[in-house]
Amino acid sequence: MTTRTEQTSIRPITLTGRSGIDRAAHHRLDEAWLAAAWSHPKTRVLVVSGGQALVEDLPDGRTELVLLPAFEAPISETHRYFLGTDEEGVRYFALQQDTLPGRMDQAARPAGLREVGALLSERDAALLAHAVALENWQRLHRFCSRCGERTVIAAAGHVRRCPACGAEHYPRTDPAVIMLVTDQEDRALLGRQMHWPEGRFSTLAGFVEPGESIEHAVVREVAEEAGVTVGSVEYVASQPWPFPSSLMLGFMARATSSEILVDGEEIHEARWFSRDELEAAFASGEVLPPSGISIAARLVELWYGKPLPPGVPR
Ligand SMILES: [Zn+2]
Repeated sequence: MTTRTEQTSIRPITLTGRSGIDRAAHHRLDEAWLAAAWSHPKTRVLVVSGGQALVEDLPDGRTELVLLPAFEAPISETHRYFLGTDEEGVRYFALQQDTLPGRMDQAARPAGLREVGALLSERDAALLAHAVALENWQRLHRFCSRCGERTVIAAAGHVRRCPACGAEHYPRTDPAVIMLVTDQEDRALLGRQMHWPEGRFSTLAGFVEPGESIEHAVVREVAEEAGVTVGSVEYVASQPWPFPSSLMLGFMARATSSEILVDGEEIHEARWFSRDELEAAFASGEVLPPSGISIAARLVELWYGKPLPPGVPR
């Protein structure tokens, strides 16, 4: 496997850039430090609820997270996650709540990462992804997988401890591969999932299985979903995908066969497209481009050689 060390995509891939946030994990067990950080006037708090946070659309077209000083944040010590610090010494926390706080100014609106990930700055997108990933994990792992007892939050939101058997549980990340497959004629293989709207085509993707390398997962998934044999596999970039706990590993893959046989379960239809064919299909409306923050759109763009037409929001 070769690795692209530089981002060669036309547009940056959301959530892969440098956020400027130092997660400062060494502070997570230091209760005195955390308490002092929380009460510091420069500290900012991101309230999350059900995968959403408040964002504000600014007059200049930017969208940013609503980050509260700690004294304005709702009072809650149980679901407080330390996210890190930035170069100016600002400490960031997330606060998981049952509902988002109301805002007097009406300017803020609730939004999820899928919706605003590409609009936010790299810092804000990274803070939201971290907070949402922890929220999802905390919500789904309240009980000890070893003994069944209720677990308690520890390490500023990054560990759950079992008071009965002493087990420590860490946030899980599920690796998934997502790949743009091209053939000898440099055509791209795009598929349509069963539940997608008519005309939506995108890259193939799937989860890495236990005991499997990611390169093998690429080869296996393409064979299973489209019946196509893959030879070389080239890593492009990764993207956190906390819906609820995935890490997308993006690849370009070269096929050594071209006959398509879809599985008919996950993938309903798959086709080879030349660049001209795809451009014509976009123009006629026969094919809808992949949309949203997913790395899929960037992988297609990397091959296509120019920005894709705007997608229809999912
Ligand atoms: Zn236990």
